[in-house]
Amino acid sequence: MWNRKRDSNAGPFSALLEANPIPAELIDILDSIDAEYILLDQSERVIQSSIGIATFNITRESSLLNEQLSRLVRATRRSSQPQEATMELPRGPIGGGMHTLFVKVVALGDAGLIAILIFDDSEMRRLDSIRRDFVANISHELKTPIGALSILSEAVLGAADDPDAITRFAGRMQIEAKRLSELVQEIIDLSRLQDDDPLKNGKIFNMSEAIKEAIEQSRMTSQAKRIDVTFSPIDQAQVLGDREQVIMAIHNLVENAVNYSPDATRVAVTLKSSEGLAEVSISDQGIGIPEKDLERIFERFYRVDAARSRETGGTGLGLSIVKHVATNHGGDVSVWSVEGAGSTFTIRFPQANTQERPHNGGAIA
Ligand code: ADP
Repeated sequence: MWNRKRDSNAGPFSALLEANPIPAELIDILDSIDAEYILLDQSERVIQSSIGIATFNITRESSLLNEQLSRLVRATRRSSQPQEATMELPRGPIGGGMHTLFVKVVALGDAGLIAILIFDDSEMRRLDSIRRDFVANISHELKTPIGALSILSEAVLGAADDPDAITRFAGRMQIEAKRLSELVQEIIDLSRLQDDDPLKNGKIFNMSEAIKEAIEQSRMTSQAKRIDVTFSPIDQAQVLGDREQVIMAIHNLVENAVNYSPDATRVAVTLKSSEGLAEVSISDQGIGIPEKDLERIFERFYRVDAARSRETGGTGLGLSIVKHVATNHGGDVSVWSVEGAGSTFTIRFPQANTQERPHNGGAIA
């Protein structure tokens, strides 16, 4: 949102305003509405507008330039009824594109004042379309394990006389069922995170302890691949927020580091406390990420190699969860990676014992 300060049209209008002062309460009310506004006097002159109005190019000095808006104003005066319309207006001085805006025109009191209110719901539309995509993606992702379960159960039915085959199919059914429940759990985690503000109800916790727990949760996976996960705790890093969420984010990063690395390699977790930030880095000697994919890996369901991700039980949601946790805590996450050499993910949180905000130092997320 742009700066919502009003533009009091000083200069040519000050005389007009003195003659016909606008009640301060009216301006306060207009400023509190999440809309841009224009106030017109009885002779259709612009006597006040919110500062964002300038980005539409619909007023010049004291004139209203847009014919569609002028028609609505006339209709409002004629009928004494508020008028509404959805219209396309250009945004920005140099071709910022057309925006669909909801406009409401109302008459205010008996002095002939008219208010034009402009609501920009493009952000809402964008979120709506993200939500729709998300639902479509979820349906698609759920179909894979459900389809596999259905085929496997048919195979079990067809193998009634072959106990070995039944055992084999049942084992695969277990894997698919586990995958399905992990996917559902991650979808639940992600939707919870989207509405959450961990800084409001958060507690201060020790980062080293949280990291140790996250590493511990990956012990089974790392031991199975003989991967040594190292970490040297430091004492002073305290973070405000939801400890469980932070553990989940670091766990996801450690789990990925292990999953996308060959057996018997090393994963190093480090924690640094500097400039008011607790910075956690997870480095692996794994397959790395092609440069063209780096920008997209934090998107929901994005996978560099979907088949490989499925093999390791990946859902494509892990990194979007990490990103949500970081941003909800006022932090960020970034990645450095070279294909065939390894990756380092760095997640940063503002420390609880300082007021400083993080700088977004070239973070990709
Ligand atoms: P997934 O469940 O598939 O692991 P994520 O959201 O955690 O989903 O990661 C998205 C994709 O980013 C993965 O599918 C993988 O291609 C890539 N990726 C994530 N972490 C690493 C890593 N440490 N090394 C190599 N590739 C990685």
